[in-house]
Amino acid sequence: MTENRPAQRIIMHIDMDSFFASVEVRENPSLKGKPVVVGADPKGGKGRGVVSTCSYEAREYGIRSAMPVSTAYRLCPECIFLPVNMQLYKKTSANVMNIMREYSDKFQQVSIDEAYLDISFIGSYDNAESVGREIKERIFHAEGLTCSVGIGPGKVIAKIASGMNKPAGMTVVRPDAIRDFLDPLPVDAIPGIGKKTKVRLEKHGIVTIKDLLGCDIQELKDAFGKHGIMMHRLARGIDDSEVREKEGQKSIGKQTTYPEDVSDTSILLSDLSDLCENVQNRLELRGYSCRTVTVKIRYAGFIDRSKADSFLHPTIDLTVIYEKAKDIFTDLYDERPVRSLGVSLSGFDSAKSRQSRLDDF
Ligand SMILES: [Mg+2]
Repeated sequence: MTENRPAQRIIMHIDMDSFFASVEVRENPSLKGKPVVVGADPKGGKGRGVVSTCSYEAREYGIRSAMPVSTAYRLCPECIFLPVNMQLYKKTSANVMNIMREYSDKFQQVSIDEAYLDISFIGSYDNAESVGREIKERIFHAEGLTCSVGIGPGKVIAKIASGMNKPAGMTVVRPDAIRDFLDPLPVDAIPGIGKKTKVRLEKHGIVTIKDLLGCDIQELKDAFGKHGIMMHRLARGIDDSEVREKEGQKSIGKQTTYPEDVSDTSILLSDLSDLCENVQNRLELRGYSCRTVTVKIRYAGFIDRSKADSFLHPTIDLTVIYEKAKDIFTDLYDERPVRSLGVSLSGFDSAKSRQSRLDDF
């Protein structure tokens, strides 16, 4: 690898192990070693809703995230089923993310329990491995939770790597080992290749990433369009997408579209409150406060009205946000039937204090 290009990229993906379930076990150590399922109430097998997370012990019964909780109950009625305690997970997540954030300015949280770090600046994969170890230890020490770390030259490889040795794993894919790492994996190890695509590829005799690599690009393009080209690029290990906090995202919004137009103010206000809760949750998760609330009403006939209003001081308080949204709504609403209702927050302020990052590498 002597080509003339900037220093090698080193990307780390960190994924907390069975996050919700692990937090529950930490809170209640008597659950340790037991099959724990966090999610909807199974109601003796008649419950609706899905499994949010389950412990590794529960996985041994075939239970998985996103599985209907009734199925999980059937697989293991003696599992310990717990409700989702989102406030607790969010608080824990914020602590964990703050630790990770210290290690690079190029940080991207992708969900409540997962993040990427671009640590190219530390110069070598050996250093990267030590950083990975240090982050794992710090998270364990501070929160009593394990995570798995993947390190590689791009986000996709790092993400696949973090999933390789769960729980508490660490997998490092150095640039000269990309082929050994990727070749034997099934095609759906590549994010974005789902079950459907996998089945279609199998019909063409393509099972592993190596098979994919051997494919004619034109044929892939004909069969899968742009997606085919992307698959082939990823199979080659080409992935230069940047690690960056989605601050290109300048607002957090959510809207409800009604199957039938709604004219009942109490329904609209109650939905407005739900929408505020949704966006406020996501605001808090990102560690921001906001200055501006926007309410958008779409009346029947696709007539849009929207209005924004700002606070004197940035806030994350749900009551404050809802009161503002209600004022705007009251001002906008003229009692015509409503097709959809939306709330968005903008004017972000970083509520988190960025601590010094490690410059010692
Ligand atoms: Mg996870």
